[in-house]
Amino acid sequence: CGIFGVVGVADAASFVALGLHALQHRGQEAGGIVTHDPEQGFNSARRFGYVRDNFTSKSVMETLPGPLAIGHVRYSTAGSKGQTAIRDVQPFFGEFAMGGAAIAHNGNITNANALRRELIERGSIFQSSSDSECIIHLMARSLQRTIPERMEDALRRVEGAFSVVAMTRTKLIGVRDPMGVRPLVLGQIGDGWVLSSETCALDIIGAEFIREIKPGEMVVITDKGVESHFPFRPRPSKFCIFEHVYFSRPDSILGGRSVYETREGIGRELAKESPVEADLVCPVPDSGTPAAIGFSLESGIPYAMGIIRNQYMGRTFIEPTEQIRNMGVRLKLNVNRALIRGKRVVLVDDSVVRGTTSRKIKEMILDAGAREVHFRIASPPTAWPCFYGVDTPEREKLLAATMSEDEMTRHLAVDSLKFISLDGLYRAVGEASGRDAGCPQYCDACFSGEYPVTPADMVEKGFQV
Ligand code: 5GP
Ligand code: SF4
Ligand code: MG
Repeated sequence: CGIFGVVGVADAASFVALGLHALQHRGQEAGGIVTHDPEQGFNSARRFGYVRDNFTSKSVMETLPGPLAIGHVRYSTAGSKGQTAIRDVQPFFGEFAMGGAAIAHNGNITNANALRRELIERGSIFQSSSDSECIIHLMARSLQRTIPERMEDALRRVEGAFSVVAMTRTKLIGVRDPMGVRPLVLGQIGDGWVLSSETCALDIIGAEFIREIKPGEMVVITDKGVESHFPFRPRPSKFCIFEHVYFSRPDSILGGRSVYETREGIGRELAKESPVEADLVCPVPDSGTPAAIGFSLESGIPYAMGIIRNQYMGRTFIEPTEQIRNMGVRLKLNVNRALIRGKRVVLVDDSVVRGTTSRKIKEMILDAGAREVHFRIASPPTAWPCFYGVDTPEREKLLAATMSEDEMTRHLAVDSLKFISLDGLYRAVGEASGRDAGCPQYCDACFSGEYPVTPADMVEKGFQV
């Protein structure tokens, strides 16, 4: 998901709408905005679909006045299977003795089922099926006197991955979990302040990038400035390495590094680790593009747009049903036939999950008359599901969970298939000596199976870590 908040500007909601539009790649199912205005109090709008279709009309934006606003773009992750209900669309809002508060959450709470059971037993009335709603109820039960303190209380009970943007009548609040799994950055615009999942959403409104919120940090922003706290027991940081590979936008800065350059570096590493003789390097658009450029630069094999993407489709993977997902590849991608005929083609993609995309693309490329097809993948085999906020299917549906690299090569019927090594990936994100096996510098659970936080809810359901 994507989260965004702004305080201290006139008409904050229109800034949030623009910010969410720049974060749309992080969630396309639904979006919501909550605002506060000294005269009109809290207001909210939550809608299915794209930001541009919902938060541009005068009739909606007029209902969202005030200098303080937060917003959320949603895509459903593990635990919330099936169609999203409007009641699951964030931000969530709660009214406490000391006033109202709204929160928007990116990540996945891994002990949400246990918390929900406990809270319901003690009288909480849940409005949604979302794990994030636990935070509001934990805040309601806290005995602390201020909303930021209640939030600290609540978040100390929560396990897993969370970046949170929240607001009261007067404050904008940002928090990252102690491992800092999901991103969150701080920006400044005139006298106002901005919190955003990614820096690309600061650019769109002309805000200046100040810094990342640190793992375990809570910032409370008022018209007096930014106050910083560290309310959690410190833990080794475990930023999601897959943000670098796929999830973040290539024009964002993560950990002081350009995502685009990192991806180009991944492509270079791939070319060094798994070279191949070929005539063309083609990206699987758009997610494979920077890595394909890196592969081409390193190998000297010419880069070409052998596959053309229809710009008006969303990200296939995010469509909730299998049927739509299966059609998705053809609706979205088409082979540039004239270019491909008679050629030995290297296809570069970011990841192989179910393998359906790769399989269809290979067929399309062979249909177009390619002589050889070689896949090079910018991440290691995805053999484990993510429980920290990225939507991966159950383990059985992951190609790499049941097949070796050789078996996958045969299954996809390609001339070769190579994944970047975990160490190669760490080098590409700037860890010169690779992965520290004793204490990995990132979360890489979907590749290694080493979960930095036990996914308690899943273990309860029988998942074996
Ligand atoms: P599949 O192998 O399941 O057919 O699809 C893999 C493709 O889905 C990847 O190339 C990637 O571009 C795209 N994708 C979209 N969302 C996600 C996600 O949340 N996780 C992963 N691993 N891939 C995703
Ligand atoms: Fe990121 Fe994978 Fe860890 Fe999920 S399991 S947080 S996708 S690295
Ligand atoms: Mg892709």
